[in-house]
Amino acid sequence: MSSNQVDGHPFFRFCRTALENIRAQGRYRQFTPLARQAERYPLYDQPETQATPSTPACPQDREVVVWSSNDYLGMGVDPVVVEAAIQAIHEHGAGAGGTRNIAGTSPVHTALEAEMADLHGKEAGLLFVSGYVSNQATLQTILSSMPGWICFSDRLNHASMIAGIKGARGSTTVIYEHNDLADLEAKLAAAPRDVPKLIAFESVYSMDGDISDIAGTCALARKYGAITYLDEVHAVGLYGDQGGGVSERDGVADQVDIIEGTLAKGFGVHGGYITATSDIVEYLRLSASGFIFTTALPPAVVAAALASVRLVRKDGWRRERMFERVNTFREKLRRAAIPFTMTPSHIVPIPVGDAQRCRELSDRLLNDYGIYATPINYPTVPRGTERLRLTPGPFHTDEMMDEMVTALSHLLRINDLAAQPVAAMA
Ligand SMILES: *Cc1c(COP(=O)(O)O)cnc(C)c1O
Repeated sequence: MSSNQVDGHPFFRFCRTALENIRAQGRYRQFTPLARQAERYPLYDQPETQATPSTPACPQDREVVVWSSNDYLGMGVDPVVVEAAIQAIHEHGAGAGGTRNIAGTSPVHTALEAEMADLHGKEAGLLFVSGYVSNQATLQTILSSMPGWICFSDRLNHASMIAGIKGARGSTTVIYEHNDLADLEAKLAAAPRDVPKLIAFESVYSMDGDISDIAGTCALARKYGAITYLDEVHAVGLYGDQGGGVSERDGVADQVDIIEGTLAKGFGVHGGYITATSDIVEYLRLSASGFIFTTALPPAVVAAALASVRLVRKDGWRRERMFERVNTFREKLRRAAIPFTMTPSHIVPIPVGDAQRCRELSDRLLNDYGIYATPINYPTVPRGTERLRLTPGPFHTDEMMDEMVTALSHLLRINDLAAQPVAAMA
């Protein structure tokens, strides 16, 4: 037996205690293995499984309707997208075989970079292996580039932006209150005039489903001499005439210096990217560690993403249908007096307010009704604001919605699952 475990290195005990604490707080997370059925999305197959530390037991195979996917438009199962991946795999093989600089750049990589730049009306684009890495690598590299950077960061920014901001050498971070332009302005005004500044924010905040004021933020940036970095991860594919995000919808993409997005949510495939001026993109291409020292995205993934982006730009019906489905679902919730948070986006949060109850509600939906909705708990959201986060898509039928409404009506009436007395919630 290897010695450390036996001799008791403190980390072994630390892990044990940490896990016990996480369990005691009701924050223990288990995966629910679900096999997406490409031709029947949003239906998934939940296979019979034994319990493991990370997964619960499932006594028998069953069919599940998923309400929590970030593949908002079902592009990941679109036949054209799937076919593009298959073709590229046959032509180019399974992996990229190297970093972008070491034989890992295929023509399809450069074509997708040009496509993303064009979508956002920017000079250039750069792919990363994920949206997380695009945020982390870009922000860390920019904020380490010159002395004295101050980064103004929205309080609810995504973990990947925070990782980049915290990882930067020698920069200062100023956190402003969420979507609060008065607070942002006060903090910009209080900062020294002649240091480089950057404002990092998102368009659609995916947990609360609220949307930032991009034009207002950019106006402050101009007034105080800051550049702007916008995460459009939950908006690309969904907002704007061509799916260019909220910045396209609001006609302000040209005011944003750097637009970041993912190919994994609205576009349904995988990978992250930024778009900006060609100098900024070239600087990052030549300096960002998280871009340089990792194997390029597989050509099949890139080909599928390119097919998806082109389809989404050309055909608006998927996003129109998604918003119609979202409205229909909200109307059904309203009629059944099920509490939900009204948002200006496509996200439908159902407040629960307690980690254990949230977990239990999600488990009962799955076990009793064959419906999957992820419980959103701390640290993803603050304690006391636990919720189910539902994302109706173009392929959720009226019948699926009615089943969800029936299930929620029933489960929320059970006292220990309800957030508050039912009367107070309607
Ligand atoms: C999911 C997410 C990311 C990361 O994108 P991936 O492509 O999944 O790595 C970045 N920003 C926000 C706001 C996200 O929700």
